[in-house]
Amino acid sequence: MDFLPLFHKLQDRRVLVVGGGEVALRKARLLADAGAVLRVVAPVVRDELIVLIGEKGEQLLRGYQLSDLDGVALIIAATDDEALNAQVSADAQARGIPVNVVDAPALCSVIFPAIVDRSPLVVAVTSGGDAPVLARLVRAKIESWIPASYGQLAGLAKKFRARVRTLFPDVQQRRVFWEDVFQGPIAEGVFAGKLNEAEQQLEAKIAGAAPQALGEVYLVGAGPGDPDLLTFRALRLMQQADVVLYDRLVAPPIIELCRRDAERVYVGKQRAAHTLPQDQINHLLVKYAKEGKRVLRLKGGDPFIFGRGGEEIEELAAHGIPFQVVPGITAASGCAAYAGIPLTHRDHAQSVRFVTGHLKDGSCDLPWGELSASGQTLVFYMGLTGLSFICEQLIRHGRAAATPAALVQQGTTQNQRVFTGTLENLPQLVAEHEVHAPTLVIVGEVVKLREKLAWFEGAQQS
Ligand code: SAH
Repeated sequence: MDFLPLFHKLQDRRVLVVGGGEVALRKARLLADAGAVLRVVAPVVRDELIVLIGEKGEQLLRGYQLSDLDGVALIIAATDDEALNAQVSADAQARGIPVNVVDAPALCSVIFPAIVDRSPLVVAVTSGGDAPVLARLVRAKIESWIPASYGQLAGLAKKFRARVRTLFPDVQQRRVFWEDVFQGPIAEGVFAGKLNEAEQQLEAKIAGAAPQALGEVYLVGAGPGDPDLLTFRALRLMQQADVVLYDRLVAPPIIELCRRDAERVYVGKQRAAHTLPQDQINHLLVKYAKEGKRVLRLKGGDPFIFGRGGEEIEELAAHGIPFQVVPGITAASGCAAYAGIPLTHRDHAQSVRFVTGHLKDGSCDLPWGELSASGQTLVFYMGLTGLSFICEQLIRHGRAAATPAALVQQGTTQNQRVFTGTLENLPQLVAEHEVHAPTLVIVGEVVKLREKLAWFEGAQQS
């Protein structure tokens, strides 16, 4: 190990920054975040830096002098004058004051790591100056693993720390207690923004009065297919849940990301050929949660967009079962992006409508007059079966037969196929190319933009 990571307490301590430009500013921001009092020495100092220096700090608008080192806890040399940087480093080291020279590891006695800040939880990563880009990439990975609200969780722990210590003098017991808190429903409560509830639960746990754990349901949007489009929260809950109930629309590579030993229950629905009727799915969710399980209800796209997510959680709410909803990228956003079709465009579409091509009673009775107005993009979900009817109605109610339209099959996946035509010939394209579900239909002038903006290559394009 070339460097020992230590965390430097800088609150109200004076730190010397030599240099007044962009690089100095970047370092000064971090120092100010840590509560340091800045002494900035440079003939010219940027305005943003002056703001950071504030009333407590000092700006010395001149060249560097040895006396600038007096009384400082840390020194940063951030000028573009190499000789000066080397001088500052030598002076600092002669006095035994830690020094960092930006981008010159050989002149440093301390180095800045890449930081993941979830204060009071802070993660620091370094490559010792050998491969800063690698350190930054690792940092980015860690950023995605650690929920943004970890800081709040640590804050909650801090509040209870002394009491828990008294309650469990044994360190082993204490460790088990906290592991349980940080990985269970209390932590999830914090992540979902339910701070008060989480605090009450922790209170109850400490009082030894934790009620028989009631499970929880996570209604999670899995996005349109590409696993990279999952949200951080979706992935975390997928790796935590004890039972997973998933749809036909959820792509297999996404199911693979669920916890290995979780029970997987396929409740897939196909239009008019439901594997499990909706009310049975609702009952299942309630049953598992009452057994104390953490239940993941994984849905294609976004659970609140033609996903019956609302119906499922109504049942949970009626039974007093805690739940949370995690949005996903809906098929319209995913397919449009991967097909190079912006859903709105200042020249072509001032609004976009998401429409179902399949109503609950099996009909397709839609406000055709409104849908036929120009200047809007229409996105039809479940529109394949009724496609001829949809196109006919739009034309009959005034949308031009030559309006551009697209079919996006299995959008965002390696099997994505996109076909473009017009309202008039779209049904024909379905037959010609044997297009099948899941397919999204996009209608409007914006479809034309694909000619210029297509970028993603799926299985077959046209
Ligand atoms: N909740 C989902 C939609 C469920 S309705 C969401 O927000 O995306 C099911 C319909 O979504 C399908 O009939 C199809 O029209 C569309 N769909 C979902 N995923 C799709 C994909 N990857 N490619 C094309 N269409 C998709």
